[in-house]
Amino acid sequence: MVSQEKFNTVCWIWIAVAFIILPILLNVTQPYGRHSKNNWGPMINNRLGWFLMELPALIIFGYFLGIKADLSNALVLIPALLWVLHYFHRALIFPLQIRTIKKQIPVVIVIFALIFNSINGFLNGYWFVNFVTEYRSATWIDLRLIAGVILFITGFIINKYHDFLLIKLRSASGSGYKVPYGGLFKYVSCPNFLGEIISWAGFAIVVFNLPALSFLIWTMVNLTTRALDHHRWYIKEFPEYDKKRKALIPYVL
Ligand code: NDP
Repeated sequence: MVSQEKFNTVCWIWIAVAFIILPILLNVTQPYGRHSKNNWGPMINNRLGWFLMELPALIIFGYFLGIKADLSNALVLIPALLWVLHYFHRALIFPLQIRTIKKQIPVVIVIFALIFNSINGFLNGYWFVNFVTEYRSATWIDLRLIAGVILFITGFIINKYHDFLLIKLRSASGSGYKVPYGGLFKYVSCPNFLGEIISWAGFAIVVFNLPALSFLIWTMVNLTTRALDHHRWYIKEFPEYDKKRKALIPYVL
């Protein structure tokens, strides 16, 4: 086991990498989904790609919980439930929900996401096994748990509801794109991404540690840049697109 000091240094380095990647992602559109390109090397089936890239987060985090984590400790049990809820859906249900006939994803994207999910699952899981403290009821801790769980669930619902609206835009055998309406689409182009960011902000409040902060920062970097790309794409593709919509945050961004 490494000392907490060394572990924290690794987390800070991981956070620094996210900030280094930010300007790259502001200039390079992530080539999957509507931005998919076949000049990024070999491609694989989109559904399989999602399954492969998300599964490590479930398996690696689950491994740490399985070997030692004390699930009678509320500071372990609550975040563990939130993590498994999210990743069980993302790795095993979401790939089956998407209407993605004949669509492919570059292997390089799958590999990047797989590495990201592995490191993320490792840092978060390792922390729970080695550094979590015992739960002792205190106003500050209880408020943190309640606020964090409410935020996570709110973000989860926003994310899943708007993913559902997007997936439903296409018939089961279709492959095109339409302008999405309903819910927060009135205000932003990517409310599903906003929901995901809110979820991981809630998770970070619940656990209050560096791995969760690093995950939140990485999610913000990934999804803010992707939302800006999606927003520009909608404006370019659909002349009737409501110019009052923002990319990610109503009235702001
Ligand atoms: P998108 O919003 O690009 O797409 C979601 C699904 O809806 C896809 O199946 C897509 O099809 C379809 N879709 C989207 N817009 C339309 C439209 N206008 N018309 C018809 N169909 C549409 O999300 P992503 O694929 O980028 O991400 C999926 C989920 O993963 C999201 O919930 C996101 O929050 C999460 N995610 C989290 C990350 C993190 O860092 N935590 C990083 C990336 C994603 P198609 O694929 O064919 O475009």
